[in-house]
This record gives sequence, structure tokens and C-alpha cells, in this order.
Amino acid sequence: EIGVEASSSLVELGRPGITAPTPGDHKYSRGFVLVAKGAMAGAACLCAGAAMRAGAGYVMLAGPDHGAGPLALVHRPASDPRALADLLADERVNVAAIGPGLGLNEEADARLDEILTSGRRLVLDADALTLMVRRGAECLNALETPPILTPHHGEFVRLFGGGAGNKVERARDAASRSGSVVVYKGSDTVIAAPDGRAAIAPPAPTWLASAGTGDVLTGIVAARYATSGDAFTAACEAVWLHGEAARRAGPFLIADDLVGALPGTLAACL
Ligand code: AMP
Ligand code: MG
Repeated sequence: EIGVEASSSLVELGRPGITAPTPGDHKYSRGFVLVAKGAMAGAACLCAGAAMRAGAGYVMLAGPDHGAGPLALVHRPASDPRALADLLADERVNVAAIGPGLGLNEEADARLDEILTSGRRLVLDADALTLMVRRGAECLNALETPPILTPHHGEFVRLFGGGAGNKVERARDAASRSGSVVVYKGSDTVIAAPDGRAAIAPPAPTWLASAGTGDVLTGIVAARYATSGDAFTAACEAVWLHGEAARRAGPFLIADDLVGALPGTLAACL
């Protein structure tokens, strides 16, 4: 075991417990995830497909045009950001994820504004993190429920600065400054919550260094957050599932393979 420091409550991630749907469940009760996309379809489709395969009952991809993705994915045209606001007003939406395939233009910025004021549980990644730089991560403290941020190293440094200390200390500092659960990705992913909880993931397969794998993680995070109200727990479960899916997918994996490995990965957690 690595990194267990009881004094500062740093825990190593373990296999999460996943429950099967009950007879009373229906697609919305299993978790409704809305993924807001911009012009680039691929990353957003990977994210939305991963959310479906990670157990969300209903995943909606909302953006300017119809992308690809699983046939079960619900596409909703939201060519202007106001249309996105209307979709977010559906009270059944549990989690909104934004960033993969969002873009960095004015329209992307307006979409992020709609998400930030939606009152939903949020997952922010990729371009959404870059668009947060000018707002300042501190403004996330105003949200009712802590959002989950999933930066890679470059995104982390842009948003929070280089800072002093080791990766765990920097993730903790970022979480407390932003009132967010921060998933600081890499070969040694660290998860930190604003209340001081922190976890370190077991070393992940280095084959994850491949385009789109982060977008898949975002979808898994969103699906777990849609069912478990605790952002830190959801993030920890998602990071573990992502690493395990990579172990199952094996060498020379691509992001699509992670999505394919999710059902077996989750079934082993029942
Ligand atoms: P992104 O950079 O957003 O595409 O995310 C990449 C994903 O792959 C994250 O979940 C990282 O933690 C993971 N990853 C990237 N590089 C490595 C590596 N060398 N070893 C293990 N995991 C990695
Ligand atoms: Mg990424």
C-alpha cells in the first residue's frame, strides 16, 4: 500500500461498491447526465458515451449540432446558449458536465455561464477549466454543491498556479481555494475535497497517455456523481474505475477501449 497517512486522512483508492438497479428504478432515477458540447464532437461524444457505460440511466448531449456516439445517446440541438439553459431547466437533470469538445470562443464561454448558473451538480474539465482562468477558481465557492474539476497538469497550473509543496498539498490547496473537489490527474492522480479529505490513486497504466482518455474519465465522474450525492466519493470511485478499465483494456489502448471495458469493470464491483 502506498500513501496512507492517517494523520492527514490521505487514503488509497479501492474498488467501489456498485449497486444494481432495483425493480422500482427507471432511466431517470439511475442518473440523468447532461453533457454540454461545443463545435468539436469527438471528445464530447466520448465523454457522453462513457457516462452511459458507467451506469447513468439517461445521457443527453447538448450542442450546436448532432455528433456521433452510441445510438442510445439522446442528442438535443442547442445551437445558442439560451437553448442550453432551457435543457438545464429540466429538474430531472442530476449532473451537468462541460469541457470536452467545448472550444474556447465566446459561445463556449456563454455555454459555461449557463452551466455555472444552472444550480446542478457540475463536472468541469478541459476547455471549461481554461475558460475558468479569467473568472478565477475562487468564484466556484458560490455554488450550492461542490463541483468536480478534473485538470491534467497543464490545466491545473493555468487555473491554480504552480504553487509550492507536493502534488497532494497543491491539490488540497486548490480544493480549499475553489470549494471544489479537485481531481489532479496524471500517473499519480490525486483527489482532494474542500473539507480536507484527500486520496491517491494506485499507479495507473501508462497506456492512458493517449488522446481522449481524460474525456472518458469526465463521463465516468459525471455518471457516479449523478447517483452518489458526495462529490469526493464520486470522484474517487470514477478514478478507480477508469484505472481498472485501463488495466482491462491493456497495452496500446485507445480511449474507445476504456468505454468498452467499463461494463466488465463495473460488473466486477457488484
Ligand atoms: P487528459 O490529459 O485530460 O486526456 O487525461 C489523461 C488521462 O490519462 C488522465 O486520467 C490521466 O491521469 C491519465 N494519464 C495520462 N498520462 C498518464 C501516464 N503516463 N500514466 C498513467 N496515467 C496517465
Ligand atoms: Mg483532457
